[in-house]
Amino acid sequence: MTSLEGLSGSVWPLHVKPRPDELLSSWLIRFAHAHQLKIESMCTLLFGRQSPVWNRDIDRLAPVWLLQGICQATGTHLQQAKHTTLGDLEGWLTETISPLGKSHWIVPLGIFHRTRQHPGLMYCPACLSEEKSRYYRRLWRMAWATACLTHQCLLVDTCPACGAPIVPHRSDMGARCYLPTRLTLITCHACQKLLTQQTLLPVSPPLAALQAKLEDTLKNGYIALGDNPSLHSVLFFEGLRALLTGGLRAQKQRSTNVKKHAPVFESRPLEERRVILEQLAQWLNNWPEDFLTDIKVHSFRSAELCSPAGILPYWYYQVVHPLNQRITATTEMEAEAIMDAVAKQTGGYNLTAAQRLAGKNITPAWRHLHPLHRVNFDSYEMAVVEIDHQIAGTLDRSQRLLLLRTKFILVARYGLQVSIKSLSKLTLASLYQLASPIPNATFYEVPRSRVQAAAWLLWYWHHLRPQLSPAPDENRVFTSSLTHKGLSASACSLYSALPMRMLKSGQFT
Ligand SMILES: [Zn+2]
Ligand SMILES: [Zn+2]
Repeated sequence: MTSLEGLSGSVWPLHVKPRPDELLSSWLIRFAHAHQLKIESMCTLLFGRQSPVWNRDIDRLAPVWLLQGICQATGTHLQQAKHTTLGDLEGWLTETISPLGKSHWIVPLGIFHRTRQHPGLMYCPACLSEEKSRYYRRLWRMAWATACLTHQCLLVDTCPACGAPIVPHRSDMGARCYLPTRLTLITCHACQKLLTQQTLLPVSPPLAALQAKLEDTLKNGYIALGDNPSLHSVLFFEGLRALLTGGLRAQKQRSTNVKKHAPVFESRPLEERRVILEQLAQWLNNWPEDFLTDIKVHSFRSAELCSPAGILPYWYYQVVHPLNQRITATTEMEAEAIMDAVAKQTGGYNLTAAQRLAGKNITPAWRHLHPLHRVNFDSYEMAVVEIDHQIAGTLDRSQRLLLLRTKFILVARYGLQVSIKSLSKLTLASLYQLASPIPNATFYEVPRSRVQAAAWLLWYWHHLRPQLSPAPDENRVFTSSLTHKGLSASACSLYSALPMRMLKSGQFT
């Protein structure tokens, strides 16, 4: 070991790099063991004595000094090192990942000093058996991951011999471990038996299909769901969690043998999570029809389905909304595109021609797109007021900001009267083209006239838009808080859609 002393701050002999999707802790351990060092000794050499490495969840969010230390020693780029933490999934898996406390979809470790009291790390015995794939993955901290798709088997989260949680950084602490070997990483820290010695249990096809879908969504950053070809992954995962908590809450109310105060999904035992996910797989497989059937069969109430805190992503909200438990067959955006094509071919709007072209009835979606059938002022005002209520109901700054954006999107769509396509392309210049001169905004009532709507949007441009930190070269009015680019037409379509109940016949002028 002495030969390695003095290496602090320089590159160590073996350049151990993180493997695909490897967790930071796993990488650190492999690095130590590759140098035939115990983890504790490596940490002392690398970070100095008393450095608090293991009394926190470094895989969730690692301090910069720790990342810099391991990067220096292994000649790794800081960006690559960041990919080994779950915090790196912020903006993909969930809006924020907190260093302490609970984060959506991440299984907690139950850290108590240097020990782990909750089985928060899962593993695939088959992956760990093969030398080339012997490392712990980020996926194995994901509350919705319960299987290994490579080996089509179930993940495990405790030692098969003694039932202890998996704590790899304590694997070389046993009295029998003089020098770490290639197998130390997969040795139970409590009983020193190999974690891989067990029978693999096969995963059910629906569960495997669900997990594949979720893994893809996380990788791509979007998913095609229902009418939306590219739903942002954060919106999808947040809605999924609302569905899961809401759906379970509703089921619980009716079942006598389910505990009334069960812990949050991420803290439930692996077996329970798996059962819940099987149910989720069923609902999502034929979204939203199967879920709507269950709503009807079990008479779920919308108060049970809607989480009391926070806003719901629209794809879930539109299904569980009390008066709105059905969805349109065609999105407005789709209807608009179809009608555009018809108008080009025939020189005018024609529903029969549209039906022939699209092969389906687009009347419901077209109803409030047609210039003669504009949504009436009451429906639009009601929608804006409803958002005001939601804003009043939350103190979360970012949620309020997003709700305010939705409000101004509605003002642009129905007050300024622009199509969804134009909405997604709206810039300051086009605002002046639509209404000039633009007067001062009066906020006493929801703007009816185009000029007043333009005045509101000008105010939005100066006061709210900057708070969403749009990219410097972005000139569109409505921007994403995640990508900092302009909102896509499909996002604008989602945000500006009015609840179905407002679109029922008789509401149009
Ligand atoms: Zn595996
Ligand atoms: Zn054990």
